[in-house]
Amino acid sequence: MQFNTALGFIFISLALMCLANNRRRFAKYIGIASIILGGLTLIQHVFGVNFYIDELFMRHYITTATSQPGRMAPNTALNFLLSGFAILTMSTERIRITQILIGSFLGAVTMGLGSVAFLGYLSNVETAYGWGNLTKMAIHTAIGFIVVGLMLILVARYLNWKTEQKSPSVLLPLILAILGFTITICLWQALYSAELYITTQYGIKTKNFVAEGILVFGGLFSVVIAIAVWFAIRSREQLRSLRLAQEEILILNQQLEKISYLDALTEIPNRRSFDAVIEKEFGRAYCYQRSIAVILLDIDYFKAYNDHYGHQMGDYSLQQVAQSIKNMAQRKTDMAARYGGEEFVLLLPDAMAEDAEKIAAMTLQAIADLNIPHEKSKVSSFVTISAGISVCVPSADTTIKELIHHADQALYEAKAEGRSRIVTTKF
Ligand code: GH3
Ligand code: MG
Ligand code: MG
Repeated sequence: MQFNTALGFIFISLALMCLANNRRRFAKYIGIASIILGGLTLIQHVFGVNFYIDELFMRHYITTATSQPGRMAPNTALNFLLSGFAILTMSTERIRITQILIGSFLGAVTMGLGSVAFLGYLSNVETAYGWGNLTKMAIHTAIGFIVVGLMLILVARYLNWKTEQKSPSVLLPLILAILGFTITICLWQALYSAELYITTQYGIKTKNFVAEGILVFGGLFSVVIAIAVWFAIRSREQLRSLRLAQEEILILNQQLEKISYLDALTEIPNRRSFDAVIEKEFGRAYCYQRSIAVILLDIDYFKAYNDHYGHQMGDYSLQQVAQSIKNMAQRKTDMAARYGGEEFVLLLPDAMAEDAEKIAAMTLQAIADLNIPHEKSKVSSFVTISAGISVCVPSADTTIKELIHHADQALYEAKAEGRSRIVTTKF
């Protein structure tokens, strides 16, 4: 490795570190330095001129067969030029997706050129890492460029992730295709100019077609790999969006279920959930021969309330009453629900008549404590409710309908006896 090559690697490494640490301005300057270093050397090679930069920093002291002492190989210079451009492209303040693409593609080319030189060393094909009598790329330089190319691709990906831009799904397949084509074309050229011949068993020298074979199969292989990876990425994306949609449906379903079991106005369980719960609790009460109580609650003179204060105020009062009744369901198995209209229900499993009466009394008090004015009520100047309690220990032929019916009867009696009171039926 020539001194300038080592210097170039220091430039590129520093620039990559700057890019990864958001020091884009430094990265830009170092990228430009790499372009100048690679570009000038390449011009020297191509136009046969000498800018005296090869031994600018250090005199070349090892005698090797090179065109110019200290001068880096033309393919090395080309790689510094390309990686310098990749860094320069990605070092602007705002990064767009095109810059990410250019950075990645130049990284792929750099990696490809490095890989070809490395393969040249592995397969002993000199034309893969050196051209004519010009300086040849050293094996560790080749490995260096494989790493640099890979790092350029990774840094581009990192910047893409950091700037939260959606990269096209063809990005990785394109990178792979470019890498594949670079390796294929360069290997084909190298083998083609190496003019490999084989000697047959009869001693006849014939040309072999390894170069053409590599061109055809390498090209096909690159295309196939790119397409396969593209399909894999697409499938993964589709799978991901399917999973997201599934999760969304699940959340919507849960919301729907919640809505279908809650009363829209008062936000306490509705009749439907009450029916489901009483079914379960009644069965349990029968099974363990425990007492079960139902309290039906009805707001007194609520039609008159609506007529006097308006439907909106009526709704608001219903919400307040509902919250107070909800607070009465204190045990885990207790349940408060809106039974319909201005009627509510409290289900109290494991409650005896006395317990239910205590809770009903507390409920009546809680509603009274709300102090909702009700000028048109004939029992109070505030909103009141009446309660009908029914309690039983279910036998084989007791039904839920019966339990509710008795509560309804009791409520009817409470209304008939003057309202704002509690009537209990045990059966
Ligand atoms: P009682 O003391 O005998 O129970 O008399 P009441 O007027 O309360 O009973 P009635 O069954 O005659 O009237 C019930 C009223 O409840 C009629 C209806 O306007 C009102 N109501 C039912 N559901 C709602 C509701 O969701 N919002 C409002 N604002 N009013 C409702
Ligand atoms: Mg009613
Ligand atoms: Mg009523």
